[in-house]
Amino acid sequence: MAFDAGKFAGGRLFIDLDALIANHRALSALVAPAVCAAVVKADAYGLGVLPVSRALSQAGCSTFFVAHLAEGLELRPELPADARIFILNGLPAGAEAACADAGLIPVLNSITQALDWADFAQGRNEKLPAALQADSGMSRLGMAHADLQRLAADPLFTANVDLRLFMSHLACADHAGAQANEDQRRAFEAAAALFPGVPRSLANSGGAFLGAAFHGDVARCGIAQYGGTASDLPGGTLAPVVRLQARVVQTRTVMLGTGVGYGLDFRADAPTRIATLGVGYADGWSRALGGGRGCAWFEGVRLPIAGRVSMDSMTIDLGALEEGVLVEGDWVDLIVGDHGIDDVATAAGTISYEILTSLGRRYERNYLGGNGGEAR
Ligand SMILES: *Cc1c(COP(=O)(O)O)cnc(C)c1O
Repeated sequence: MAFDAGKFAGGRLFIDLDALIANHRALSALVAPAVCAAVVKADAYGLGVLPVSRALSQAGCSTFFVAHLAEGLELRPELPADARIFILNGLPAGAEAACADAGLIPVLNSITQALDWADFAQGRNEKLPAALQADSGMSRLGMAHADLQRLAADPLFTANVDLRLFMSHLACADHAGAQANEDQRRAFEAAAALFPGVPRSLANSGGAFLGAAFHGDVARCGIAQYGGTASDLPGGTLAPVVRLQARVVQTRTVMLGTGVGYGLDFRADAPTRIATLGVGYADGWSRALGGGRGCAWFEGVRLPIAGRVSMDSMTIDLGALEEGVLVEGDWVDLIVGDHGIDDVATAAGTISYEILTSLGRRYERNYLGGNGGEAR
């Protein structure tokens, strides 16, 4: 077997496909009789779109959402022919043929996109599938009510587009008490009534926890499948999927007053044992975690980051461990079990979505479980 330099990476990721599948099944049960679709945009939130999508497909998931055409084109040949792949960001002008030829389903977000797609379909003499998105109050993607009324009455559109889904997106779904959820739901229902008989989709992961009135026919779940907190309601966090470890590349003891790292920001106030880890901000481990805001874990002991996070490495304070317990070549946890992606996000002043999608390309990636495990 060829030499595998990946085994010597500064960090390693474990992606638990069995936990992913369990989360997908829990969400499916939560939204039933609606269907739980998988949102696998941005490389399945950084976890690897192909292994994640294959595992979910084998677990029975048949509806997938990506953000961009290129993501759909990469995924399409990997899934069974009857799996549906929707392109959330819609179609840039000129991309119609590529989308249609690949059998991808665009989400039409503007009247221009909708009429271009209808026009293109008419030119091919073929009714082409699409989803239609309403802006129900988030003011990001989707059409205003008046544009939807115009489309519903436009024979070019109705004759040439096969509407598979009518959708919108919630701005505050993670806050169950937000009045905006109910306001958006009403606006969505009113818009959906313009297209009777078309399956409906409003909920993301957070929406899945808001009750049946939000489920429609298809829930579009991303973060909850990947173990991130989706809702402030009890049970709003499912099983962790990701474990991240960093390699100890060096250890040293620094004397009182010695500076550590860029800017010498950390100053030892006593003789201090320091370990240098092979993970830095180029691996998605945010500089915001420096200065003790973030930490590593070793057998349940918290080891705070000492000083700034560098590009390829960072230093941690080993003071909480007996000398010799952690040595060069050992591994410490950065994301593990109870110390999960939401804790890291809070420490970094961001959200779990950004922690996951920032995970770098340099980690050794290990896929566990999922009917084939490491072989996939
Ligand atoms: C990203 C996205 C989702 C998934 O959101 P989660 O909060 O990760 O479940 C669903 N719908 C749309 C339109 C999205 O952009």
